[in-house]
Amino acid sequence: MSEKFWKQGIRFECQGTGRCCASRGSYGYVYLTLEDRRRFAKYFKISTLAFTRRHCAKTNGYFHLKEIKGDCQFLEGKGCSAYDARPAQCRTWPFWPENMNARTWSREVKAFCPGVGKGKLYSEAEIKALLAQDPIDP
Ligand code: SF4
Repeated sequence: MSEKFWKQGIRFECQGTGRCCASRGSYGYVYLTLEDRRRFAKYFKISTLAFTRRHCAKTNGYFHLKEIKGDCQFLEGKGCSAYDARPAQCRTWPFWPENMNARTWSREVKAFCPGVGKGKLYSEAEIKALLAQDPIDP
C-alpha cells in the first residue's frame, strides 16, 4: 500500500448524498464484524442471531447486510435509517484499504464521493486507525 499521497493527511466530510449506501457493483456489500452485528441487534432490541438471520447474508465466509435491489436495506432516501448503529465499514468510508492507493483514490474515490477534499483534516495516524477497522481484514 502506497502511503505517499496521504502522508500529510486528507480532508473528508460527508456531504450526505447517500451515494456510498446505494448500489455500486463490486463495492456494494456492507460487510459486518461480529461487533457490528451485536451493535445492530442491540439497536433493534433483538438477539444477534435474530438480526443475522433477518438482515444478513454470507459471501465467501463473510457476513454482510442483505440488499434491496443492490442498495443497502437501511438506506431511506439519502439517509441511513439505522445511522446510530451503522457498521465500521460505513463509519470508516472512504478510508478503506482498497481505496488507499493514489490511482484508485484519484480516479475512483475522488470522482465518486463529493466529501473528499472537504471538511476535517484526517491525519495519517487517524487514517491508519480507520484502516485498521477493515471488517474483512482477518
Ligand atoms: S448501514 Fe446505513 S450508512 Fe451503512 S450503507 Fe447502509 S444505509 Fe448506508
